[in-house]
This record gives sequence, structure tokens and C-alpha cells, in this order.
Amino acid sequence: MENSCLFCRIVSGEIPATVVHRTETTVAFRDIDPKAPTHVLVIPVAHHADVVALAADPSAAADVLATAAAVAEKEGLTGGFRLIFNTGRDSGQEVFHVHAHVLGGTPLGPMLAGQ
Ligand code: 5GP
Ligand code: ZN
Repeated sequence: MENSCLFCRIVSGEIPATVVHRTETTVAFRDIDPKAPTHVLVIPVAHHADVVALAADPSAAADVLATAAAVAEKEGLTGGFRLIFNTGRDSGQEVFHVHAHVLGGTPLGPMLAGQ
């Protein structure tokens, strides 16, 4: 737990969030500014800054992917979904507690803006 980290504070319940799925090692909650009908963030309970750091904790990485899959099923994303890990400056990452964006519920269009 890092006191200054927004998502650690969501894990601890200090900052409220709409949690849609929780396991011992992960939390999934709705993005505050959704970009699709379903836009859920999946995070490990353990603080890792980004997906590169998460890769050094293979068990947490696997748990994040399993929770993303569970969220997609729970949300009824039968048409598919997009899983995004923004990583570092060029990606526009804003919160440095790794999170997978689960996006779906409509055709999502081109992978990148401007394509
Ligand atoms: P990033 O740009 O780091 O990949 O994504 C950060 C995401 O966190 C953004 O989509 C943003 O809307 C979301 N977000 C930022 N602050 C909060 C918050 O306090 N609560 C929730 N639920 N989402 C947040
Ligand atoms: Zn954190």
C-alpha cells in the first residue's frame, strides 16, 4: 500500500469506487470517465507501477488477466472486448498503479485514434 497512490486507496476502501469483481489479489471497478458502455479497470492489490513491473510478479500478472476475463464474462461481453495497459509517457498513462482497461459493449473501431 502506497499512501500517495490513488488506486491503493481504492483497494483499501479509503476512496470509493464501483467494484464489479474482487479476488484476494485483484480488484475490478468501473472507470470514473468511461470510454465505452463497459469500461472497467482491473488492478492487482499489490502496488506495481506499470505492466513492466507487473511482469516481474507472474502470479499477480496471471491473476489480473484471469480477473479481466471474469469481468468480460460478468459484463456479458460476448462480442469481444479490448484489454489495454497504458505504459509510460507515450501511452498517456496517468495513474502509476498498473491497471488493465477492459473495454467493450459496442464495436470499438480502430485500435488507435486517427487510424
Ligand atoms: P491511464 O490513463 O493511467 O491508463 O488510465 C487511468 C484511468 O483511471 C482513466 O481512464 C481515468 O478515467 C481513471 N480514473 C482516474 N481517477 C479515477 C478515480 O478516482 N476513480 C475511478 N474509478 N477511475 C479513475
Ligand atoms: Zn498503488
